[in-house]
Amino acid sequence: VAERPLVFLELVAGEPTRGSLGLLGRAREVFGTVAAVVFGPHARTIGGGLGGFGADTVYTFDENPLGREGAAMDLAWTHVDAVAHLVEEHGFRTVLFEGSSVASDIAGALSARLEAGVNWALSDISLNGEAVVGIRPSANEALRAGGGRVRVGWVGPRHLGVFETDAFAPRRSAARSHVIDLSPVVGPTGSGESRRAVRVVSGTTGDDPASRALGSADVIVAGGRGMRDASVLRTLEELAELLGGAVGVSMPIVDRGWYPYEHQIGSATPSVRPRIYIACGISGSVQHRIGMQQSQFVVAINIDRDAPIMSFADVGVLGDLHQLLPQLIELLRRHDGAREPEPTD
Ligand SMILES: Cc1cc2nc3c(=O)[nH]c(=O)nc-3n(C[C@H](O)[C@H](O)[C@H](O)COP(=O)(O)OP(=O)(O)OC[C@H]3O[C@@H](n4cnc5c(N)ncnc54)[C@H](O)[C@@H]3O)c2cc1C
Repeated sequence: VAERPLVFLELVAGEPTRGSLGLLGRAREVFGTVAAVVFGPHARTIGGGLGGFGADTVYTFDENPLGREGAAMDLAWTHVDAVAHLVEEHGFRTVLFEGSSVASDIAGALSARLEAGVNWALSDISLNGEAVVGIRPSANEALRAGGGRVRVGWVGPRHLGVFETDAFAPRRSAARSHVIDLSPVVGPTGSGESRRAVRVVSGTTGDDPASRALGSADVIVAGGRGMRDASVLRTLEELAELLGGAVGVSMPIVDRGWYPYEHQIGSATPSVRPRIYIACGISGSVQHRIGMQQSQFVVAINIDRDAPIMSFADVGVLGDLHQLLPQLIELLRRHDGAREPEPTD
């Protein structure tokens, strides 16, 4: 056996990803033996079960730097320190990752730190004698277009390999894993030696209610420069809530700081596809239209019959939004009230 590789086991919402479990199995098949490294508050528990997927040794780090001080706001510096420690002190020469943004961060930083080569987008790995060989798409544009693949090796003693996402299905193994907790050795976030060449400027938690709501909304109530001030957005929110929908805005509203960017609709943001799009005081510029033209039914409320949106809306309501919206809300409330079930006793 040439060596024992180390597989970075990635967790999402506390669970190992299918692809990194699959990678463990494939590495065991090729190398005969494989170790894993896991980070997170339940790393030891998870590590104990990894024998069943092929790992004979699992190094765990109970510290979860990505989960502290603002989830996902930090880069994986502790991971870099910890994996570098395993390479330098425990003699691993080959570290394998399932492709992900975290894996890219760690592999990129480790490559610089350890002067190790990285091969990306691997679809498989094998041994040619003692040499580790990967397979990945050709860098040659013409070959790549036809699905061309190349066999790649590593120059130098340390190998970093980042695989395609979900390249291998997990397979069960009868191996038992030996779990070694290394948390105290590497220490908490920031105490390591990582040289920080990049930084996070800002972030969202990933379940940002605005983008999620807009992407899946059946109804979007959108406001534009026709709103006289920011307080009108509360009216839009009220209407959206009554209709079980979400609020969108045109770009000038975000530029004025009236509403967050995540609610902007147009060419600069992912397209929305609601069943009903109610545009209030929005002229319908090309840039706005690009983001909402896949709506099934468009209602435009505008004081200008010649506004571009009036030409492509399914229904154009000529009128002042400040008068119409409160009336519409009032109507809906009455309608909802009328539908309230009668008390049973
Ligand atoms: C590179 C680039 C990218 C852009 N990307 C985007 C983008 O992603 N999204 C985006 O929205 N814009 C984008 N824009 C800006 C875009 O060109 C328009 O300027 C913008 O969409 C106009 O916003 P609006 O319709 O709210 O304002 P306006 O064009 O000023 O329209 C306001 C409308 O409100 C009506 N109105 C006024 N008072 C009332 C009232 N009391 N009741 C009812 N109606 C009333 C008016 O008649 C008018 O039609 C981009 C521009 C550039 C150059």
